[in-house]
Amino acid sequence: MLSERSYKIKPSPTLSIDSKAKALKAKGIDVVNFGVGEPDFDTPDNIKEAAIKAIKDGFTKYTPVGGIDALKDAIIEKFKRDNNLDYKREEIIVSCGAKHSLYNVAQALFSPGDEVLIPSPYWVTYPEQVVLNDAVPVFIRTHESDSFMLNPESIESHITKKTKAIILNYPSNPTGLTYNKKKLEQIAEVVLKYNIYIISDEIYEKLTYDGFKHISIASLDNSIKEKTIVISGLSKSYAMTGWRIGFAAGPKEIIKAMTDIQSQSTSNPNSISQMAAIEALKGPQDFIKTMIDEFDKRRKLLVSELKSIKGVRCVNPTGAFYVFPNVSSFYGKKANNFKILSSSDLAMYLLEKANVALVHGGAFGDDNHIRLSYATSIDEIKKGVERIKEALKQLA
Ligand code: PLP
Repeated sequence: MLSERSYKIKPSPTLSIDSKAKALKAKGIDVVNFGVGEPDFDTPDNIKEAAIKAIKDGFTKYTPVGGIDALKDAIIEKFKRDNNLDYKREEIIVSCGAKHSLYNVAQALFSPGDEVLIPSPYWVTYPEQVVLNDAVPVFIRTHESDSFMLNPESIESHITKKTKAIILNYPSNPTGLTYNKKKLEQIAEVVLKYNIYIISDEIYEKLTYDGFKHISIASLDNSIKEKTIVISGLSKSYAMTGWRIGFAAGPKEIIKAMTDIQSQSTSNPNSISQMAAIEALKGPQDFIKTMIDEFDKRRKLLVSELKSIKGVRCVNPTGAFYVFPNVSSFYGKKANNFKILSSSDLAMYLLEKANVALVHGGAFGDDNHIRLSYATSIDEIKKGVERIKEALKQLA
């Protein structure tokens, strides 16, 4: 009955775990939720006020498809200020979230049979969007021993005549990996040699720790900028996940194609959210620093607690708000009716026996790991880790 495409697509496992945890909570069960992919901070008041003003002013009608000029200008200013990148209005599109921007790029760039390189572990949405656009995801495995860094030789060994693009994501969901300038230069060199595109998802750009400063690969030089579509948005940096504003910057022909595609699917992003987005980008930025400081405390606590558990290994994440520990030493063990053979068995065991929700690494292409988000309070982290420790102790 349904299209072939519908049978190929998998629903987002991260969203479904989050809603499972929320449903248990609604039933009165005290679940510690490490599954969340959104900041637990409220959107700052100045941003909310801008939205209220937009409603009161009657700014409630269709806008230009790719976003209003004032927002594009604020985004251009942001790229200049934060990333040392110069764009013009025709090189920017605003969409209904970064996920939507990514979908528009996939529609604009991929033809049937095109191969798209995806470093693994990856964010769950990339392979699905590639498949939805009849292209083929090609995974490049990265290794825990190397802090999940992508190395240029492995990119090169996966390139064929059909390779169209590579999708980068740094800081990374799920590993928290960030790339330094040298690594970005090595990646850029391979991309230029084979003339493929880079889709660079930098949505977590503001969330870096240990003095790490995010660098956009597009800012390395003009030749790489011409091959790169930078994706970012407001969801993570300004705690605005529900407002649905994301954006892309890149070569104007690609942005035009994305805008035409958007014109026939969603039309413009929400007019009120666009006004709020201008305030987010141009108003006071101190909220971000407060959020980063709090995330940093939680990151340090969660990583040190996880590392103290016998059998758990953990790479130190330097960005985003996720930890991706290796839990494979528990595979093959049992407790009660549970036999743990995979990351999803372990996630299910922890949800049912310990009331702790987290995402199995298999969803991100690496079954030896689980993903914990620290977008939750210090008290919840302490409680959750205690429960995990107890539950893991029972496995033999
Ligand atoms: N890119 C990555 C790597 C993400 O983790 C997420 C959300 O979890 C997004 C994009 C989507 O962000 P948005 O809410 O702007 O669609």
